Amino acid sequence: MSNKQSIPFLDLASLHQELEGELVPVFQKALRTAAFIGGQMVEEFESEFARFCEAEHCIGVSSGTDAVRFALTAAGVQPGDIVLTVPLTFIATTEAISQAGARPDFVDVSPRTYTMNPEKLRQYFETNCALDRETGRMVHRTHRRPVTAVIPVHLYGQMADMDPILEIAGRYQLTVIEDACQAHGAEYFSKKENRWRKAGSMGHAAAFSFYPGKNLGACGEAGAVTTNNEILAKVVRMLRDHGQVRKYYHEIEGYNGRLDAIQAGLLHAKLRHLAEWNQKRREAAGRYHELLGKLTASLVLPFEPSWSRAVYHLYVVSTAERDELQKHLTESGIGTGIHYPIPVHLQKPYRSQGFSEGDYPESENAAAQVLSLPMYPGLSAAQQERVVEEIARFGEVVKSPVANRPAAKA
Ligand SMILES: *Cc1c(COP(=O)(O)O)cnc(C)c1O
Repeated sequence: MSNKQSIPFLDLASLHQELEGELVPVFQKALRTAAFIGGQMVEEFESEFARFCEAEHCIGVSSGTDAVRFALTAAGVQPGDIVLTVPLTFIATTEAISQAGARPDFVDVSPRTYTMNPEKLRQYFETNCALDRETGRMVHRTHRRPVTAVIPVHLYGQMADMDPILEIAGRYQLTVIEDACQAHGAEYFSKKENRWRKAGSMGHAAAFSFYPGKNLGACGEAGAVTTNNEILAKVVRMLRDHGQVRKYYHEIEGYNGRLDAIQAGLLHAKLRHLAEWNQKRREAAGRYHELLGKLTASLVLPFEPSWSRAVYHLYVVSTAERDELQKHLTESGIGTGIHYPIPVHLQKPYRSQGFSEGDYPESENAAAQVLSLPMYPGLSAAQQERVVEEIARFGEVVKSPVANRPAAKA
């Protein structure tokens, strides 16, 4: 075993070595002009990324977390409002809700796609809320607060089922902010519009993260808001820059949440490769699917509905033996990840809000069973074969009667 090469969960260094020739001139250009904040490099990236997302506006900001927060505030979410999202996400989604002054509440995910279950969203309003005739808004019966926005999370690179979510949001006057931080380039077939739509173009606004490990990653921290709404775009532009419309003329109090020019330049250079990288991820996912599909092990593979073209930010399998499988792969030199081990409603900061185990069973199940396998554009077929071989070997150990393990649950 020791002669086998280890396979990292993510290989960022090789990718950046290959791009050095394109990235170094960006640094040099920024150094020579000393235009570090704002300016042409930021504007050029913004317009290219808007085009990539098929959205009208893109506003570069300092992180995905700020992108969610600014989008919520710009969309008019008020302190005290309730904003809905899913428990199976990175905590940044709910942090941004709290930072916007609102209170996060949850709708469970669908077990097959791990994204927001529209039926549960409908039930949330039918069961937990009542119409306030004065404002025309839905108010939570026990919290006595208006529910004003919903954040579907396009998890692992696959978009949430947007048609019914948008339909329900329309009925209850909700703002829809897509958390597209894991879904640069993902697509959704809207039956309603009879066409494919890009992540970041469907909600009132969307948040992207360019954290280095994302499908499009900066060489540092960065994020963006996309929207088709000009006024919302204008407010996000103010919020990221101390609420000013021009230097020292402040309309509102804002934040220091701008996108660095150097990061914008680097992102612009990398954006030219994004479609090809996403295609490679899709091919790698297809290969995993074929190889893992042949195994008898009770492993649940990612499900891509006919309305989805996922970009596989992560390739996530699910098994009741998750922890043992992860240990086996680690010992065999194969890197894996868990996204995420604790659903957000059970994380410490939200304990005081009265959530308990069992509230969102599908998210809790996923948290106990999901495992992310190595996935990046440069992952080779041979590396994938080795990953699958090790999973097959683990499957045999599990089934062996001498192994003395609890039986795998169906
Ligand atoms: C990465 C991520 C974020 C936050 O992005 P940052 O750039 O790290 O602030 C938010 N939501 C989801 C789903 C993410 O994966």
